[in-house]
Amino acid sequence: MPYPLIDIGANLTHDSFAEDLPEVLARAEAVGVERLVVTGSSDQGNIDAAELADAYPGRLYATAGVHPHHAADYTDASDELIRSLLLRKSVVAVGECGLDYFRNFSPRDAQIEAFRSQLDIAVDTKMPVFLHQRDAHEEFVKILEPLLAKIPRAVAHCFTGDGAALDDYLKLDLYIGITGWICDERRGLHLQEIVGEIPDDRLLIETDAPYLMPRTLNPKPDSRRNEPHYLPEVLRIVAAARGQSEEQVAAITTANAIRFFELG
Ligand SMILES: [Zn+2]
Repeated sequence: MPYPLIDIGANLTHDSFAEDLPEVLARAEAVGVERLVVTGSSDQGNIDAAELADAYPGRLYATAGVHPHHAADYTDASDELIRSLLLRKSVVAVGECGLDYFRNFSPRDAQIEAFRSQLDIAVDTKMPVFLHQRDAHEEFVKILEPLLAKIPRAVAHCFTGDGAALDDYLKLDLYIGITGWICDERRGLHLQEIVGEIPDDRLLIETDAPYLMPRTLNPKPDSRRNEPHYLPEVLRIVAAARGQSEEQVAAITTANAIRFFELG
């Protein structure tokens, strides 16, 4: 029997899933990935994610937020849309939101403003936040820290940083989302050394599908599209790196996801 798992970050509204989502979900379920949180990252993406979650009650959930790449498009209407979607039972967190100074697809000022606005939504609605950060650690912490006391829970999704960044996040009591980045022998091996520092009650796992195919899969899949079906590979590498059994890591990460998103 596979272990029940929850993929806390899957971009299932991505075009690449348009043709075969029912099959994708069936493959995921067959390996224990029973529940998934669909990431919302733009106005239309938020609507699509919420509609998808409503179509699979108890199975799919959604976040509602604007990714820093789209921060230049963040308007009052975006803000109102997020707030209205959060009233739905299936929409369980604000985000993804944060800062991405790696690509700077949106100007930094716009990123900061959109990030602050979404943190305000989390404060007002008392909902958890799903955070994205790349190459912006110091500014990100500076903005986030003063508001955290008023936000119930926060996860640094797709954590790829170093030990110092992890220490900072753990001091802030963030949950940490680990993706298949940890399976990447070119750029993710440092994560295998530090993932054991995450306390049991702060660890979450995610695929970030269709991105970040775990490179440790053997044989390598024919398609380059990552799927929630490969979450057990992230579990396997995380468990080995932490010196825990897969069963144990499955149990703690699933319990954490249920608590974090109040999935019941
Ligand atoms: Zn992200």
